[in-house]
Amino acid sequence: MNPIDRQITWDHSRGWCAACGNRLGDQGVVHHRVLKGMGGKKGARAAGEFYDRPPITEVIHDRCHKWIHQHPARAKETGHIVPFWADVSEVPTTVIDELRRAA
Ligand SMILES: [Zn+2]
Repeated sequence: MNPIDRQITWDHSRGWCAACGNRLGDQGVVHHRVLKGMGGKKGARAAGEFYDRPPITEVIHDRCHKWIHQHPARAKETGHIVPFWADVSEVPTTVIDELRRAA
């Protein structure tokens, strides 16, 4: 991921974790809502989108990132994992209640 795309993603977060809704501090990692392994990178390129920029990317805590990948069904319900065939810009993200409580 190049530093410009990383900066754009961080600026977009405004310092808040997209998964739990709490402040990021310096604990943020970049999450790709459309997973590479699901054809996301190829699909984004085909759609003329930047795979490494919002709305495909978001900054979340490392612990929230781990949780998302451990709970893919819940992550899909809340828009943090989007199938490669969907239009990611049409899929809103919501704070995940389980993570909000845990923070
Ligand atoms: Zn978080």
